Amino acid sequence: MADDRNIVIVTGIPGVGKTTVINEAVEEVKQNHNESVLVLNFGTEIFQIASKKGLIEDRDHLRKMPTAKQREVQRMAGEAIAEKAKKAKVIIDTHTLIQTNNGFLIGLPEWVVRAIQPKTLVLVEADPERIAERRSSDETRTRDAQLVEDIDTHQRMCRAAATTVGTLTGATVRIIKNREGKVEEAGKELAATIME
Ligand code: ATP
Ligand code: MG
Repeated sequence: MADDRNIVIVTGIPGVGKTTVINEAVEEVKQNHNESVLVLNFGTEIFQIASKKGLIEDRDHLRKMPTAKQREVQRMAGEAIAEKAKKAKVIIDTHTLIQTNNGFLIGLPEWVVRAIQPKTLVLVEADPERIAERRSSDETRTRDAQLVEDIDTHQRMCRAAATTVGTLTGATVRIIKNREGKVEEAGKELAATIME
């Protein structure tokens, strides 16, 4: 049977520019290949489930909930995402590791990635100093301030988590650098992965 995977998971630490790069790539695919891409945001899905259950009012409070609750809503969202992702070309905008009050929570547990069977796991990276700046100047979100050193550690941990997804599913792991002021370049690379 042909291995016709159509899902790309896009990960990277908060404020690295995942959503911005995805928007650029979707536009690129539409313009140059006349194809549309369904973008699913794991965080949005989780937030909708958590707010329906009355657990939370602000999306940026999700990572402060007791981790057992976070796992519960994550499971429900994972099931919803795997179901929706059965359609055409799909990008999933998410995190491999969530910084909680009790250490890193695995954003993509094995049963989620096994259900999704991604073609590629993309890791969007940037210089830790630039990430710190992007977080502090982003007025649309309540972002945690973090030491550059901790941002660097989080980013390194994400590489380890990304290769785990590759091991479990056979997905390729592609690092895309989101350089300052060069979103277009990063978007083109992501578009190439979607169309591969
Ligand atoms: P989260 O995981 O929290 O959703 P994210 O990775 O999706 O974060 P974005 O919201 O896309 O991050 O970007 C964070 C901020 O960084 C935004 O204000 C965005 O405009 C800015 N930004 C993204 N990419 C670049 C870039 N290449 N150069 C300069 N600024 C950028
Ligand atoms: Mg985002």
